[in-house]
Amino acid sequence: MRILALLLLIGCGTPIEDLNPTKKDKKYEVADKELESYINLFEEESKSRKAVSIDNLIVEYGNTADVGQGLLNLLDVTIGVCYSGSDTPRIVIDKSYWADATDTQKEVLMFHELGHCILGRGHDTRLDNGKVPVSVMYPTIFTFWYTKKRKYYLDELFLGGY
Ligand SMILES: [Zn+2]
Repeated sequence: MRILALLLLIGCGTPIEDLNPTKKDKKYEVADKELESYINLFEEESKSRKAVSIDNLIVEYGNTADVGQGLLNLLDVTIGVCYSGSDTPRIVIDKSYWADATDTQKEVLMFHELGHCILGRGHDTRLDNGKVPVSVMYPTIFTFWYTKKRKYYLDELFLGGY
């Protein structure tokens, strides 16, 4: 399980292409209600902390397979990407990963990408005791510690590192 989890690389916020996404009149444009529920949850958690609102964002399903960062070479699988290079930041989620993901995996993935696209955060590869990610901005999905220390990770995400 641990090995599998490590292979689920999350794409980083580096702008790779600009497809000139256009947003309609809404604050943000989201592919479906389930993705939107994580946007709402993010804003809800934000309210009690930094109170960042989301007013310019596209979230969609798409192909993320080609967006490797080369960190794990042949073994990496990118399951989410934030494109922040254009006026409207865009999050692309791999649909096949999403279909089989647990609620916690979905939350970590969405909050990680929103960390890039909305909070402007980069990756944080630090580990406590050599094994516990310090931030949800760690470049792979982790759920065991996230579930145990969810409040810590949300404080860290919105309020910055400790
Ligand atoms: Zn990332």
